[in-house]
Amino acid sequence: MESSSSGCANGSRLKRSLRKNIGVRNYDENLMDELIEKHLGNTPRKKNKTIEDMEKETETEAMIALSLGFPIDELLEEEVKHRVVSELGGKQQNDYIVVRNHILAKWRNNVRTWISKDQIKETVSNEYGNLINSAYDFLLSHGYINFGVLHSGLVVSSHLPEGKEGSVIIVGSGLAGLAAARQLLSFGFKVVVLEGRNRPGGRVYTQRMGREGNFVAVDLGGSVLTGIHANPLGVLARQLSIPLHKVRDKCPLYKPDGAPINEEIDSKVDLIFNKLLDKATEFRKLMGESANDISLGLALETFRRLYGVLHSTEEVQLLDWHLANLEYANAGCLLDLSVAYWDQDDPYEMGGDHCFLAGGNWRLIKAMCEEVPIFYGKPVNYIKHGNEGVEVVSGDQVFRADMVLCTVPLGVLKNRMIKFEPELPKRKLGAIERLGFGLLNKVAMVFPHVFWGEDIDTFGCLNQDTHRRGEFFLFYSYHTVSGGPVLIALIAGEAALTSECTDSVSLLHCVLSVLRGIFSPKGIEVPNPIQTICTKWGSDPLCHGSYSHIRVGSSGIDYDILAESVGGRLFFAGEATSRQYPATMHGAFLSGLREASHMLHTIRTSHDGHMKWVSKNIGPCSDLLIELFKEPDLVFGKFAFVFDPSKKDPESMGLMKVTFKNPNNDFNDSCEKEAKNSGDNSLQLPLPLYTVLSREQAYKIQYVDGDDGSKLSILYKNLGLALAGPGGLGSLGHSLIVSIASARRVCGRHQFAVGRPKAV
Ligand SMILES: Cc1cc2nc3c(=O)[nH]c(=O)nc-3n(C[C@H](O)[C@H](O)[C@H](O)COP(=O)(O)OP(=O)(O)OC[C@H]3O[C@@H](n4cnc5c(N)ncnc54)[C@H](O)[C@@H]3O)c2cc1C
Repeated sequence: MESSSSGCANGSRLKRSLRKNIGVRNYDENLMDELIEKHLGNTPRKKNKTIEDMEKETETEAMIALSLGFPIDELLEEEVKHRVVSELGGKQQNDYIVVRNHILAKWRNNVRTWISKDQIKETVSNEYGNLINSAYDFLLSHGYINFGVLHSGLVVSSHLPEGKEGSVIIVGSGLAGLAAARQLLSFGFKVVVLEGRNRPGGRVYTQRMGREGNFVAVDLGGSVLTGIHANPLGVLARQLSIPLHKVRDKCPLYKPDGAPINEEIDSKVDLIFNKLLDKATEFRKLMGESANDISLGLALETFRRLYGVLHSTEEVQLLDWHLANLEYANAGCLLDLSVAYWDQDDPYEMGGDHCFLAGGNWRLIKAMCEEVPIFYGKPVNYIKHGNEGVEVVSGDQVFRADMVLCTVPLGVLKNRMIKFEPELPKRKLGAIERLGFGLLNKVAMVFPHVFWGEDIDTFGCLNQDTHRRGEFFLFYSYHTVSGGPVLIALIAGEAALTSECTDSVSLLHCVLSVLRGIFSPKGIEVPNPIQTICTKWGSDPLCHGSYSHIRVGSSGIDYDILAESVGGRLFFAGEATSRQYPATMHGAFLSGLREASHMLHTIRTSHDGHMKWVSKNIGPCSDLLIELFKEPDLVFGKFAFVFDPSKKDPESMGLMKVTFKNPNNDFNDSCEKEAKNSGDNSLQLPLPLYTVLSREQAYKIQYVDGDDGSKLSILYKNLGLALAGPGGLGSLGHSLIVSIASARRVCGRHQFAVGRPKAV
């Protein structure tokens, strides 16, 4: 750890953690952009480059690769495992590294478009063809290039044969589940996501608050991109052209009576706080293994008493504030955190500014959901896995596939909300038990105006009571990004636990008295909020807490154990499976990419082996299709159409149903009537046929003169469309069915559910 440079003067208290940053990564997305532009521009490498130019370029590309976690002149462990070169350590390896760095740099130069092998071949000599294949395949399958929300959407349809690789059920549509789903679809897997809630995003949840015509977007879960350098969510923001707002360093602290903290005392306590942390680090080195049983809270308190460093009430309260901030960063009480390993992820902390995303993180989630088949309101309660594949049960519905990826929060696993058969291995159960899953709650408030000052993004308040030190200790202002005057008060540590069983009115009363305590003495009136929301992440049955931490008795290895797959069928992702980036949004996202690559590798290496891959039909999509066509958007003759209500452009895709009837056959008509009367949705006679088409194509068919026969002929001959049964719609059709149903739900038009709706 560094010395106490994280003082209030440089504003580091704004970070989610006051833990000091060792920072092995030093990537600056903006600087790198400039560098890449300068050296590569947007044009292919010039044929007649001088040796000096080439060397410079190679150096720049190596820097970019380094910043993304690739060593300068070595292969990653993963690359060695994947045998990217036939001989380690020689010329071939060096050449590979240069080619690999070039591909990485080239994609980073424009993350908005899919980079193809052919594009690489334009800029690298033919003699390295094999190395291009090797490096490109490695980077693509491991999610180092072409990930995120590329403009062209999911590339599966154009790049890979659909469903070629097998089928996967993903449990949970948080960042981990969505990242995995997009990757797997682009690899050619059949994918469905089962989500227990009626919305995607999990712990990323942006709520619309405020008044009609003046709504604001407020993040009630994950909000801050904690370090933007090399952060994959920064790449997503670039792909979507969403601006980021740097959380500014200024963070005034106030005493409970509203008086500002004395600067001298502030610096002194800051120094003491860091010294205490340093002492705890020295202590664990001395104690070795025995430190595993001791909490960070106990160690800090012991040193505080031993050195008798704090004298005044203000000093004690200020130290408590720092400790509350630590509890916030770890979502846990200090008495629960392991002094030995609580900060094991420090070396991997993303460097750079902490940022808010304009309009809320929901924008990332929304983009990631596009074209991903998600079934909402499907809390999974049983997962069976074995040589024959997997069975995933939600209520009375069974989904079957080759593999399952479980991305539910650690709290859900701890509470045994899902029964696994066979039961999870003992070592995994042990890790689930040992790791901590703590609490952070928020009180979000929309006010009539910004009364706290436009020039700050954070301010803090000390508490008189040590046990309540985490109660409204820090306020985040979102007025710069949410579209209105929004304040969020944080509740961490012991206070977070208490807040779970405190009613919202009392919490609001309390937070307002804190705010009035700060601002009234300055002559600033604190108005009543227009709207307030108090989170209760601990009572949320699909979460049971906020994020993971290393509890006494646990260590970073437990994150790795949580990430282990079982029998090549059952896989795990989510923030609590990320040893390097736990408790973060980017950690969750990266764990999804990791597991997608793991599953691809598993299925490819097992195809020749003993495992059976049957590419199961993974979802009752036809039920949803029938539901959709109960209320078509356009009908004429035998034709009916449904479209995504959120997309109005002529190119946006929809579905068409055409129902052929035998005019002389009254039987069909009467059967249909009967089916309607009995409420049996599955009986549709005669069987309808479907196709995927654009709005524009639908209108072309509508305006064809003549009968249904003429329209059909245009459909086949001019538009080249083919009709198929529900099973023949392919993954594009499958995705469309789910996305139209979701979009309708969002637009409040319908409540679609397959099977019985569940209360969640
Ligand atoms: C209050 C709060 C503040 C935070 N602040 C930050 C921050 O500022 N910066 C940061 O980087 N991170 C922050 N985080 C952490 C970050 O939000 C998470 O690490 C990340 O979103 C986790 O993503 P995930 O995909 O692993 O899990 P989740 O987002 O929880 O996704 C899991 C999904 O599984 C679903 N699910 C659960 N059980 C079942 C079931 N049985 N069947 C079907 N579906 C199920 C859930 O509904 C959920 O959608 C914060 C979290 C909280 C709660």
